[in-house]
Parts: sequence; structure tokens; C-alpha cells
Amino acid sequence: MPTPTDSGTSPQPVIEFKDVEKRFGDKTVLKDLNFSVERGERVTLIGPSGSGKTTILRLAMTLEHLTDGYIFINGEPLVYEQRNGKRVPVSNREQKRLRTRIGMVFQQFNLFPNMTVMENIVEAPIHVLGLKKEEARNRAHKLLEDVGLPEKADAHPTELSGGQQQRVAIARALAMDPQILLLDEVTSALDPEVVVDVLEVLRNVAATTDVTMLIVTHEMSFARDVSHRVMMFDGGKVVESADPETIFTNPAQERTKKFLSAVL
Ligand code: ADP
Repeated sequence: MPTPTDSGTSPQPVIEFKDVEKRFGDKTVLKDLNFSVERGERVTLIGPSGSGKTTILRLAMTLEHLTDGYIFINGEPLVYEQRNGKRVPVSNREQKRLRTRIGMVFQQFNLFPNMTVMENIVEAPIHVLGLKKEEARNRAHKLLEDVGLPEKADAHPTELSGGQQQRVAIARALAMDPQILLLDEVTSALDPEVVVDVLEVLRNVAATTDVTMLIVTHEMSFARDVSHRVMMFDGGKVVESADPETIFTNPAQERTKKFLSAVL
């Protein structure tokens, strides 16, 4: 698979974590964490449960706040301020614009239950991006076709299976035309027979767009097929980072070998 930086000059990373530390109370989850993701690169994070993978995605989405260090998106730092004794993401125009470049799909779908599928998809494009209703709806119809659910626009989430809800959640994230897509164990809550449908949709997104992806998954064959790079985590640190072929067939680190022999 060609790497995203093969063509042209090497641009600045789309995502960069620099000396990142994250504590929850006195528990240090991430320490001195440094890594970057290039434009169009698809990077999968693997490692034992509790090693901090989801926390990394939530930090990039500003759903969690850094304890120390920096996260840069397109070279611009995510900035926080103290408000009412709490550390919160700054909400000026620049910072909001930065955050609209990032979409996330969660394990638990998180669709708005009181809205139809169509309303779920067009909500942010209309209210955050300022798209005209008709344009947002046209795009949503196209995305529903892409995820194999063209007939579900007027359904409510409760009328859909878990796999269908997750495909809507993917369409909703893509409707914002994100530069970065964060995928947090998106198949972990699904019945095994529908996992393949959701992964097929994501394989298609990977094949047909240049969206940068940071992926946390237990689906190793999916990780192997779609990733340019796999990063093995343990204890809040990168143990090893390499192309999937190397990680899955000839990992350098004992820790990676042990982890993979337990999950494969
Ligand atoms: P992974 O995704 O690798 O399973 P997580 O990022 O979910 O790991 O969690 C890393 C560690 O941080 C775990 O020990 C978890 O219990 C802890 N943690 C995550 N979120 C919180 C939170 N909101 N409050 C306290 N501890 C948390």
C-alpha cells in the first residue's frame, strides 16, 4: 500500500501529540506521549485494555483535557482556559473551526434518539457548518446510500439494529466532511453477524477518501487491511510503531508479540 506521504513534499502532521500527559485524579494514564499522524494516514492503536487508547481519541476530540503537553491539529494547538475553576476548551472561532475538522464514531453510536436518521445527519452540517437545508439533505441521502441505508432516512434510531445505527453514526460523522475521523471500538457493541457490514462501510471510506483516521479496534484483520501504520501501546506509552505487515508478522518487541499471541 502506498504511504500517504509518497507523493509531494512532506506536509506538517495533521495530528501531533507532544509530551502529552493525562491524569485522572492521581492515576497517570498517559505520560510523555509523542506521536504524529500525517495527512491521509490511517493509524490503528492496539494494546491491552486500559492502556489509554480511548483516552487518546477523546483528548484529540477535546472530550477530555490534557494534564500537560500539547496536541496540535494541522500545526495549531488545542487550547484550554480556566472557567469557573474548570479547565475547558477555548471556544473562539479559530478553535471551533479546528474542532469541526474532526469527527468521531463511538462504541455506543450516540445518535440523538428523538430525531430521525435524516435529522441526525443534517443537524451539525446545518447548525455548525451553516449549510442550506436542501444541500445538507442531498448530501445526507448520498451518504445513506454509501452506508447501504438509503431507505432509512425517516426512521428513528430505535427502529434500527445496532449495526444500522452504527452505519448512520458513520454517515453523520462524514456529513461534516471531516479531515480526521476518530473511530473508537466502533464494532465492540455489535452482534458478530453485523460487524462485517460496518467494517465494509469503513473499508469503503478508507478506499474512496483521503480522510486521516485514528482507529482503536480489536478487529485485527481490519486493522491489518486498512492501516498504513499500527501503534502498540502499553502503560500509556508507544511500545512499537510500524507498518501492519511488520507488526502482525514480525514485531520487534516482546510486549507486542505477547499481546498479539493473546488476541489473534
Ligand atoms: P483503553 O482504551 O486502552 O482500554 P482507556 O483510555 O479507556 O484505555 O483507559 C485508560 C485508563 O484510564 C484506564 O485505567 C481507565 O480506567 C482510566 N480512565 C479512563 N477514563 C477515565 C475517567 N473519566 N475517569 C477516571 N479514569 C478513567
